[in-house]
Amino acid sequence: MSNAIEIEGLRKTYPASGSEPPKEALKGVDLTIPEGSIFGLLGPNGAGKSTLINILAGLVVKTSGTVRIWGFDQDRNPRQSRAAIGVMPQELNMDPFFTPRGSLDVQAGLYGVPRRERKTDEILAMIGLSDKADAYARNLSGGMRRRLLLGKALVHSPQILVLDEPTAGVDIELRQMLWRNVRRLNEERGMTIILTTHYLEEAEAMCDEIAIIDHGEVLVRDTTRALVARMDAKTLVITPEAPLPADLALPPGVETEARPGGAFAFTYRRAETSPDDILSALRTAGVRIRDVATEEARLEDVFLDLTRGTHDTAA
Ligand code: ADP
Ligand code: MG
Repeated sequence: MSNAIEIEGLRKTYPASGSEPPKEALKGVDLTIPEGSIFGLLGPNGAGKSTLINILAGLVVKTSGTVRIWGFDQDRNPRQSRAAIGVMPQELNMDPFFTPRGSLDVQAGLYGVPRRERKTDEILAMIGLSDKADAYARNLSGGMRRRLLLGKALVHSPQILVLDEPTAGVDIELRQMLWRNVRRLNEERGMTIILTTHYLEEAEAMCDEIAIIDHGEVLVRDTTRALVARMDAKTLVITPEAPLPADLALPPGVETEARPGGAFAFTYRRAETSPDDILSALRTAGVRIRDVATEEARLEDVFLDLTRGTHDTAA
């Protein structure tokens, strides 16, 4: 199997400006993204996700390192490597004087797509904007503008589609539409998809493989399945009617933590323990439960898990 993207030793330092010191946004990233996959780039705000994406898109100039897109070295074959990739940016920047049809046409022109090869109507239908094709962009809702950004990323039929935080702050309906489209592009056209997100659940649901990036470095890269198995901690939060008895015998491996309001958090591994094991132990000890809630492992927990030690010594 070959790689859609190969990145070696990628560094980016933004120069100092005003009172801001230089910012090292990428500190030597090595990453390969397999052809045909849906790949997630996961990380908190400021991790360097957009910087990486924008370098791939040719919007940000790297400081050093090599980037190969669809086999083309970005420095030696800039035109071919740019043609292989379509990017839906994080920012909503849009010319209000263009209609969706006009925007798609201008974008196709920028990429040198001949008129007879343009798929404007097909793209408009796919992003659900056929009936708004000739409306001015300033009259489009935020969700419609975002869909148009997706359409613009597709005008030159790239082999690789990159989506930068496509669902941050969008409603459920738009989120589901975006995901349907992305899955279809991947399944029907074999398009390689790279998306950034700070939602662990989203990455879990969508991505075959995931890289977690923080402070400009890749902390881990693995299949989603393997990663989730590593992070299968769940938490059961119980509010008992009375303080817990001292002789409470919990299943092995369960960690207890007192929470405000008299609640207790029991953290367990899904692979080892079920919530029923914990509830049974509580019932056996005669604990009466006033309230119960569950918590998934959050991205923050994953980071803590992964960076424990490195951040401790650095601090
Ligand atoms: P993410 O997309 O993961 O939130 P970014 O790539 O946007 O992260 O940013 C990584 C770091 O680089 C952050 O500290 C950010 O403040 C900084 N940064 C991003 N763009 C610029 C820029 N144009 N000039 C200076 N610093 C920047
Ligand atoms: Mg970003």
